[in-house]
Amino acid sequence: MNRRAFLATTAAAAAGVTMTAASAATVTPFGQTGAPTPSTAPLPLGPLPGSRYPDSRLESLKKPQVSFGPSGFPAFAGTMAVERVATGFRWAEGPVYFPAGRYVLFSDIPNNRIMRFLEDDGHVSVFRQPSMNSNGNTIDREGRLITCEHSGRRVTRAELDGSITIIADRYNGKKLNSPNDAVVAADGSIWFCDPVYGIGGFYEGIKAEPEQEKHNVYRVDPKSGDIKIVVDDFVEPNGLCFSPDEKKLYICDTGFTDGPDNPSHIRVFDVDLGAGKLSNSKVFADMPKPSITDGLRCDTAGRLWCSVGWGDPNEDGVRCYTPDGDLLGKIHIPETVANLCFGGQQRNRLYIRGSSSLYAVYTSVQGAMKP
Ligand code: MG
Repeated sequence: MNRRAFLATTAAAAAGVTMTAASAATVTPFGQTGAPTPSTAPLPLGPLPGSRYPDSRLESLKKPQVSFGPSGFPAFAGTMAVERVATGFRWAEGPVYFPAGRYVLFSDIPNNRIMRFLEDDGHVSVFRQPSMNSNGNTIDREGRLITCEHSGRRVTRAELDGSITIIADRYNGKKLNSPNDAVVAADGSIWFCDPVYGIGGFYEGIKAEPEQEKHNVYRVDPKSGDIKIVVDDFVEPNGLCFSPDEKKLYICDTGFTDGPDNPSHIRVFDVDLGAGKLSNSKVFADMPKPSITDGLRCDTAGRLWCSVGWGDPNEDGVRCYTPDGDLLGKIHIPETVANLCFGGQQRNRLYIRGSSSLYAVYTSVQGAMKP
């Protein structure tokens, strides 16, 4: 190496160090919790290995177990396999689809960033960093991004001009625990859960003592911005989803992570949207412990699609239930799955967040696309 080349290399290295230091300085103490995951793709993209139509990863639990036609499991039209469309994340969560831009946003929590997957050409890039160790994301009726932040311990909204508005960061004068997932109703009210996963350590947030006595689900009033508790008897409230008519609200309880006798299930409530109240709590579906379900979405017929992960690898993936709680089928994914959302121009592509990767499968239904 000649001297000029050496000096150029050294200057570039120095500039790199400076930039890294500056970047780290802006992030601390908001959760630069790990070295970035290498950008090389450790897992192959495209249809999963060994796929043959019909894909055996799409399992109908109804008889006959046909692939085609109205009696088949509505996961697919028969001629589609589960695909891995992006990979290289440390622990990815909270997907949301933006129809106007045809992209999926999702959180890579330990890497403190929100990623964007462009559906038209598969391009993946960083959308926001630092993300305050964001977790759940959703979209409101005006097309604005709503984000739950672990290290921010708050719920924020990205306005159409790109500025960030804090929607909720305190209740009763005390900090929230670590908002995890949110949904927005037709009246603009924002409903979110507040478990303690984001303050339990330094990997997915910043370790802290909870200030809230309980792990509540809250509603933010669309006019006043007031925050009130809508339910307070969850061990660890998690994913939320309204039925398409918004008469029911489904909420996961992942309390099993705190102890073997705690629930791993989905509860369903009757919703009085005008009053902002829930009633008539019931267990909708139990998960096969030690698996838990973290994320929920409905299709237009009111079927509930939920993630499954953390337990038996044979259960990792997605489950689909009728509105009556009848299990219709499963989608098997080779990684622990935390969350999912419908997307695609026809709202018929299910995006599945599985640990290090983003998976997708076309379905024979359409997502309700209510946040
Ligand atoms: Mg969650």
